[in-house]
Amino acid sequence: MHSAEGAQAPSHREIVSMPFSRYLKIFPDLDRPGSTLLYSTRKGSLVRLPEKILADVRRGTLADTVVDTLRRLELWVDDPAAEREAMVELVNRTNAKAGTFFATVVLTLDCNLACPYCFEDHFRRNHAMGAATAGLLVEKIEREELGQGRDVTLRFYGGEPLLALPRLKEIACRLRAAAAATGTKFSFSLVTNATLLTRKVVEELLPLGLTSAQVTLDGPAEIHDLQRPFVSGHGSFTAIVANIQAVCDLITLKPGGNFTRENYRRFPEMLDALLAAGIDPARLGPVQFSPILPKSGVRDSSSDCCVSCGEPWLMEAILFLREETLKRGFGVEKPAMGVCMVELTNNLVVNYDGTLYKCPAFMGWPEMAVGTLADGVGDYAVSHNLDLWKNDDCLECAYLPLCFGGCRLLPLLNHGAIDRVDCRRKYYDTVLERFILQDIRYRPSVQAQGIA
Ligand code: SF4
Ligand code: SF4
Repeated sequence: MHSAEGAQAPSHREIVSMPFSRYLKIFPDLDRPGSTLLYSTRKGSLVRLPEKILADVRRGTLADTVVDTLRRLELWVDDPAAEREAMVELVNRTNAKAGTFFATVVLTLDCNLACPYCFEDHFRRNHAMGAATAGLLVEKIEREELGQGRDVTLRFYGGEPLLALPRLKEIACRLRAAAAATGTKFSFSLVTNATLLTRKVVEELLPLGLTSAQVTLDGPAEIHDLQRPFVSGHGSFTAIVANIQAVCDLITLKPGGNFTRENYRRFPEMLDALLAAGIDPARLGPVQFSPILPKSGVRDSSSDCCVSCGEPWLMEAILFLREETLKRGFGVEKPAMGVCMVELTNNLVVNYDGTLYKCPAFMGWPEMAVGTLADGVGDYAVSHNLDLWKNDDCLECAYLPLCFGGCRLLPLLNHGAIDRVDCRRKYYDTVLERFILQDIRYRPSVQAQGIA
């Protein structure tokens, strides 16, 4: 590429030494030769810059108006040291100003499906939250959250949370009333296999604060029914699609699916089945396909489950599925700031027995519990290696705002402790540019802001 003056375009190394943010990626604009895309991993902003402007940056002759625009989009920084310091403090600042408390609440570990890969397989017995534990939960939230003026959002989880519908309603009713009395807001979502998510159930839960549900379809019926059969052995695909069809106008449904290296190429057929059932993609939330992970609490070196996002097949699978999803008119998540919930003080997991964790993935590891409803939350800074991303490599890494040291489960699975980051540099090097180009191509709302 050549600038307007015919001089050689700057290399990426030269560009990043300019007064640009370190949390910035620069990609060639394949659709417009002579332009470059600048993407802020921190703000999510995207700018198309003609090479002439890059030449102006190098010469220090950039117009003030252009500098102001780049500064507003957090692509330009006047003080690199202050930018780094702001990133060091970002999680603390987020925690200090959090106005909403989030909790994942395990109502029961019982389930009406018998998925062979079930993440909770090793501890999923017929345990359910009793009245006393539910009472402790409600009292804690009334006293420490709603009573302090904070809104509350719960995510009911299982097993299958709809097997514990009366308990769910009891908790939601009490918190709904407490929120009304304190002038705060209470709402909840479900992580459900969707076999019991009928229109009647959703209509009962709507006035109690239900807003959305995460549901799972593992590919077309032929694959799904093997991966997610009822306890009886019968397939669950038909029942789930019928429920999605019946309730998608009432709440936001977020479909997802768990794939393997062998079957991911067939997962778009599940989206075709939703279209064939007359389900409008615009009515659904983003689709999220994920690889099957090893079972919680188990280190199994013989497992063929995915334990690294840098595996070439996985990166290929994620790019393929994202493209096929967008192509069919369904939504996907945009790359976004990705602080692990472990670092967020306003985010807890409450197990059926009142034990507290920082991530649902840790429920199979009793040593990762951080407290109980009765005793409160203890100090987990060391056991969870908080701040493990506050090192020079991460703070100078363009991917830090998306990664923050990656998933805490993977070092636990691979090394038995959260003793290192789960580095995603290889993953983002491979997928981020393609994600941006996919978004420009398929999502009219995502367009690079042009700077002339
Ligand atoms: S639906 Fe979820 S909890 Fe139930 S068996 Fe399947 S993976 Fe496990
Ligand atoms: S873990 Fe790796 S990808 Fe993530 S911020 Fe640190 S260096 Fe970057």
